[in-house]
Amino acid sequence: MKNSSENNNPLVEKIYFLRQKALEKRTIHNKQQLNKPVSFWIKEDRLKNEIGKEFTVILRTNGCNWALSRQGGCSMCGYVQDASSIKVNDEMIINQFKIALENKRSAIEQDDHHYVLKIFNSGSFFDDSEISDCVRKEIYSYINEIDKIKEVIIESRVEYITMEKLEKIKEGLNEKKVEIGIGLESANDHVRNDYINKGLPIKDFEKIVLMSKQLDVGIKAYLLFKPPFLNEQCAIDDCANSIRYCLDLGVDTISINPINIQKGSLIEHLWYKNLYRPPWFYSLFNCLVTNISSAKLRNCRIVSDPSGAGTKRGIHNCLKKECNETMKKMLKNFVLHQDPSKLDLKNHNCECKMQYELQKDQC
Ligand code: SF4
Ligand SMILES: [Zn+2]
Repeated sequence: MKNSSENNNPLVEKIYFLRQKALEKRTIHNKQQLNKPVSFWIKEDRLKNEIGKEFTVILRTNGCNWALSRQGGCSMCGYVQDASSIKVNDEMIINQFKIALENKRSAIEQDDHHYVLKIFNSGSFFDDSEISDCVRKEIYSYINEIDKIKEVIIESRVEYITMEKLEKIKEGLNEKKVEIGIGLESANDHVRNDYINKGLPIKDFEKIVLMSKQLDVGIKAYLLFKPPFLNEQCAIDDCANSIRYCLDLGVDTISINPINIQKGSLIEHLWYKNLYRPPWFYSLFNCLVTNISSAKLRNCRIVSDPSGAGTKRGIHNCLKKECNETMKKMLKNFVLHQDPSKLDLKNHNCECKMQYELQKDQC
């Protein structure tokens, strides 16, 4: 007889099994480490209407509850590896945020550019078991001290987003533009819930988009480029369909995230078995050029800042440095200027283009 704690779905069972194996190898952080953020940085970025800078802070919490659940989390995600297995309390999270902010405060205040602050916690900012209501409130008041920060982006799964939390963030950051990042990944139910194991009904996403609009809170939809079990052409089609869906729904920002192979994920398992290759830059460019126009970008910004780009684990063409560096520069220019003509490949003549064309429809 089947144990009631097991999943009926073999793919979910595999994701869960791989996750548990990876979690066993997690680093145990000491108290000192838990009082410091995972990382923080400043770099050039696209703001809503101008080129500016991002100040990103990654907080260490107890991690995404979807990944820690019997469902095992999303098939491409390994962020929970960075989370702490020891309880991270309110004071620690505030300390993490303050360290990052104080370290960069004068650089931000003296900069001529405006800033977007991105707070990531490798889970959900609105999940009270990761970040409590009073910690969120305190974070909002620290952010308000810095006028140069014009936009704030946090991330959350939809089940933790409520009208009350949206009202509080809106009120707490009343001078700033607020955006909530949500991992939609794909507008296709089968790809999103069966291949990615997102556990997100499309109706729930749409409900949150409507709720946010009522409060003038923006939505940033994350789209996964080349989920597992799709070849290059299917990845292009899936992402194109999702872009159209997000534009029609009126989301404020679309962030396209080409897969990078993360530790402990199902994708990593498939990659080791040669059953998955991260996407080619050519596919991403093809998808963007064909499906967006400057007119469409008047109401929605499209961003993409792929992790691990140009390496074996990230989006890449051939492994020649020059080929990938050119692609990275072109993508960055497209994002900064929101101009699809920056992705024109006609002057890029690397021999891997032919190899790509031959294999993009293969399984
Ligand atoms: S992608 Fe987001 S929701 Fe999915 S497991 Fe990772 S952190 Fe959790
Ligand atoms: Zn090449």
